[in-house]
Amino acid sequence: MFAARYVPGKKELSLVEVPKPTPGPLDVILKIRAAGICHSDLHVLHGEVPYKESFTMGHEACGEVVEKGSEVFGTFNPGDLYAVHGPNPCGHCNYCRTGHDNLCNDPSRTFIGLGQDGAYAEYLKVPARNIVKVPKGISPEVAAVATDAVLTPYHAIKTKGGVGLGSKVLAIGLGGLGMNGVQIALALGAEVTAVDLKDANLETAKSFGVQKVLNSKQISSLTPLSFDVVVDFVGLESTFKDAQNFVKPGGTILLIGLGSAQVPLTTATAITFETKVQASFWGTHVEMQELYELIAEGKIKPQVETAPMKEVNHWLHELEAGRVKSRMALIP
Ligand code: NAD
Ligand code: ZN
Repeated sequence: MFAARYVPGKKELSLVEVPKPTPGPLDVILKIRAAGICHSDLHVLHGEVPYKESFTMGHEACGEVVEKGSEVFGTFNPGDLYAVHGPNPCGHCNYCRTGHDNLCNDPSRTFIGLGQDGAYAEYLKVPARNIVKVPKGISPEVAAVATDAVLTPYHAIKTKGGVGLGSKVLAIGLGGLGMNGVQIALALGAEVTAVDLKDANLETAKSFGVQKVLNSKQISSLTPLSFDVVVDFVGLESTFKDAQNFVKPGGTILLIGLGSAQVPLTTATAITFETKVQASFWGTHVEMQELYELIAEGKIKPQVETAPMKEVNHWLHELEAGRVKSRMALIP
């Protein structure tokens, strides 16, 4: 089968033929219907998130179950869509058993498409416990990108940020994750301000009901110390400084973007204002089920464009150049 593989030290994925995977007793084989491209793929290709071994990239996966292991029960109908919970938790450790399966730290666990074979391929092997049924009416490409570009902001904003009715939220960076993040904050009843470098993204955010949008160059026009929650979807030194400037005393900065290896915290200000800095990672299996309901109800409308999977390197370059309009999903 076709697969696009990360090779350590190479800046592009290698497009190769590899054997189709066979399931272990507890696995299923998905025929991939769509796989989303995340900015994290670029961090891997740039060596910022290093991996020593080769693997098939792609951590936003949706497909149909075409084969199952000897110990997998349940019926999988042709045409039914399943999405992959990318953190690929072990299912039996304390984190998994207490609903924090995004934090599973079991030595056996590696992330799908980040360290172990992922979705830029025709078929994907995944433990059956880590797939989620996609409600009817949601397209493969929307289901695929939701596994990260919706799940990550959902976990951060709802679960870790405690955003609710009347929260004042500032979102920095309206790309794949951020554009869903603002919709999630609005659905929770927040009043949202959003900034990005790209005016077109600001217009899209406005169309979703974001109350105030502005270009990052004008961010200094916002009132300092005025937001309950600032979501940093970029994670550069500059955006994290902005987050500290605009979060209220006692407020929360949600750190999601991996733009810099380190971000600076101004100790005196953070201490005086008891700023909460909450890093946030991907999301849980249960949250994935919740967000598909929200998508099915039309409360979150993930923006996706599609392209043939063999164009993966082209679209990674386009993402790097800032020319991807929303989120790209690749179709095998
Ligand atoms: P993306 O490239 O689709 O979007 C990034 C957006 O930020 C773009 O719209 C860009 O114009 C904007 N931007 C860049 N610099 C900016 C600045 N200085 N000020 C304002 N806006 C700016 O990326 P994405 O796929 O949405 O991912 C965003 C980040 O989140 C990446 O670093 C990615 O690795 C990370 N990520 C983290 C997690 C997690 O679990 N924490 C999960 C997935 C992705
Ligand atoms: Zn990702």
